[in-house]
Amino acid sequence: MYGESPVRHIDGHVRRADTTMHENMPDMYRARSPNGPENRPLIPDPCSHIKEPVLVSACLLGIACRYDGKSKYSITFTEDMNILPIPVCPEQLGGLPTPRAPSDLIGGDGRDVLEGKARLLNSEGVDVTENFIKGGRQTCNIARILNAKKAILKEDSPSCGVHMVKMSGKWTKGIGVAAAMLSNMGLKIVNEGEIESL
Ligand code: SF4
Repeated sequence: MYGESPVRHIDGHVRRADTTMHENMPDMYRARSPNGPENRPLIPDPCSHIKEPVLVSACLLGIACRYDGKSKYSITFTEDMNILPIPVCPEQLGGLPTPRAPSDLIGGDGRDVLEGKARLLNSEGVDVTENFIKGGRQTCNIARILNAKKAILKEDSPSCGVHMVKMSGKWTKGIGVAAAMLSNMGLKIVNEGEIESL
């Protein structure tokens, strides 16, 4: 570090004889100074490396949380996107097991569920509406804690669907329960094919 320079001992520290105390400070502590030997930012910006937290449907990230015990891994993030993906599975957060019986929206989409006009039944005929609402709330709590403003959600899911959901056995335009709650909270939500528009 000091090359061939002569050294001297000051207060028990070895210092280069031809440098000042300022020059001997560790780089990370040395302030940017136009008069310094090198005008370069030596105190790192503590926020420069912080990425934006974005909620992502956990199954899209390869987590096996779907009703059939599998994942739907289909997205990757590059460094320049500056995204910190936060995996969330509203159905698991709502207390449903994995694997689980698939659920279907009955009488409307996620917004209708929130207004009490629709519900969710699983393939065994069990009403799981409360699980879906609880999972949506938990997902919103995570967004709130992290101050997340965006979410990438799995299309077609009764929880996460952004534009399409299965209602009474048919694919229909509509939004999932958790997606509706995140949208109501003000988050920008996109599906896995719309990441470019985030
Ligand atoms: Fe994926 Fe959302 Fe279904 Fe969980 S609730 S498995 S994150 S689509």
